[in-house]
Amino acid sequence: MDKILRINMGADGGPAANTESLGDYAGLGGRGLTSAIVSKEVPPLCHPLGEDNKLVIAPGLLSGSTAAMSGRLSVGCKSPLTGGIKEANAGGMPAQMLGRLGYAAVVLEGKPKGDTLYKILINKDGVDIKEDNSLCMLGNYDLVDKIKAEYGEKVACISIGPAGEMKLAAASVACTDMEQRPTRHAGRGGVGAVMGAKGVKVIVIDDAGMKMRQPQDPEKFKEANKTWVAGLRKHSVTGESLPAYGTNVLTNIINEAGAFPTKNFMWGQFDGCNNISGETQAETETSRGGSALHGCHRGCVIRCSGTYVNKDGHYITKQPEYETVWAHGANCGIDDLDAIAQLDRLDDDFGLDTIEMGATIAVAMEAGVAEFGDAKAAINLIKEVGKGTPLGRILGSGAAVTGKAYGIERVPVVKGQSMPAYDPRGVQGIGVTYATSTMGADHTAGYSVTANILDVGGTVDPLKPEGQIELARNLQIATAMLTDSTGMCLFIAFAILDQPDTFQALVDLINSFSGQNFTAEDLTEQGKKILKMERDFNFRAGMTEKDDRLPDYFKKEPLPPHNITFQVTDEDLDQVHNW
Ligand code: SF4
Repeated sequence: MDKILRINMGADGGPAANTESLGDYAGLGGRGLTSAIVSKEVPPLCHPLGEDNKLVIAPGLLSGSTAAMSGRLSVGCKSPLTGGIKEANAGGMPAQMLGRLGYAAVVLEGKPKGDTLYKILINKDGVDIKEDNSLCMLGNYDLVDKIKAEYGEKVACISIGPAGEMKLAAASVACTDMEQRPTRHAGRGGVGAVMGAKGVKVIVIDDAGMKMRQPQDPEKFKEANKTWVAGLRKHSVTGESLPAYGTNVLTNIINEAGAFPTKNFMWGQFDGCNNISGETQAETETSRGGSALHGCHRGCVIRCSGTYVNKDGHYITKQPEYETVWAHGANCGIDDLDAIAQLDRLDDDFGLDTIEMGATIAVAMEAGVAEFGDAKAAINLIKEVGKGTPLGRILGSGAAVTGKAYGIERVPVVKGQSMPAYDPRGVQGIGVTYATSTMGADHTAGYSVTANILDVGGTVDPLKPEGQIELARNLQIATAMLTDSTGMCLFIAFAILDQPDTFQALVDLINSFSGQNFTAEDLTEQGKKILKMERDFNFRAGMTEKDDRLPDYFKKEPLPPHNITFQVTDEDLDQVHNW
């Protein structure tokens, strides 16, 4: 991965591609690279949908190698949702394939002059950019079927659905999984809208004829990978819970902890929890002939995903993840797994962030647009987004816009981005991450649920403010480098936080692959550098420390059953980035 592919979508005479060496960006990958390019090359005050914004797509440092779990793809830009810097990442096949083709990043720049839609093919022979308005407003599933018919069963797709074409701020970028299904999404922050603004419907990646990326020290790499895989298999979360029940194993756990946001963050426990839990979901899937065990890309040894089929055994969607089950389930008062699966399918097809859409529909329900618990109404509301009706466009712009449109105070967003599936009053450490992440409310930026709830990497009382600043700070630093920049799936965090030999195996993988000799401290410094760069962009874009806050009602409205408010002070929040 020694080159960057730049495609100027606004070039005179039509889109023009050129390849350049990494230059100053050498040694960076994934989020480290997307944020470095956005930070250096995108004017912070530009319009996110304008010609000056760039969409940067970057595999992780280890993507395309045989390192287990290394297939995440980072997508970065200035976010139409937050107005700040954005990196959203996804699994699926594109990262591994782009890595093998030698690309550290694909950068979409400029803006096409008309409404023409483009498809881009990247293969061993180079890049081919074609106009194709027949793809206009296709859902991701139909789009991928068309691409398969044209390019065969082995290519991977990075694409947008109608929401991206409409440039809605909740639009995602879809990546195909091992079965060429558009089920893995870089969901957050409206990255799909930026791809839509560039006029790119799909990037088709064909790595035929390319080999695995080779490590600098093959023997050490092989040994490290062995220890790495053994460590992931040994840990109870990565070796047992996630493979058995998927991420939705968390529904019962977080509900039990009283931090499962219910009906637009009004309660911390949901009566219908058992109907939508990971245990029920896995049983439903397997009894119908689906599967509760599936990897989203080759080389995944945890395999937290699955296949959700209907009562007749027909494929509906991939196993809805915990965040989706919560967003479209408890948060909207819905306890019907089939309805949640339909909502997940619609989100994937239209190209929408399930977290943002679940939070948005719950805000709309609070506004009286539909009743809490009305699954049919929720499905119709998502269909409004897909059709692009005026109501749909409001909803597709996210919870903050919807809250404003309907005059609702209780809107769970930070920097304009919806909170995920943990109430910050019941898990105060994740509240610190939501408030202070450079990305807006984002659990993956610093997953404090580990020590707050799961006793992984230590124990910090979830209901008290003590210890939360350090926890959220350290996790944000580690995440920026160790997972988001290497291409590693976030779920490795459980094993590396608890098992020093597994942590060391990851460091050894990075070093033996790159030929470097990084210590854990060096990698921590890299993580700090990434956060600093991102925060600096946000400040240049007009944000201040005052944007590192939760909405007021979390400080005033006690959350049952613990009847507790968010306890961490603003002064303490301001210390998170002060290391
Ligand atoms: S653990 Fe889950 S999300 Fe992570 S790579 Fe495997 S299937 Fe994908």
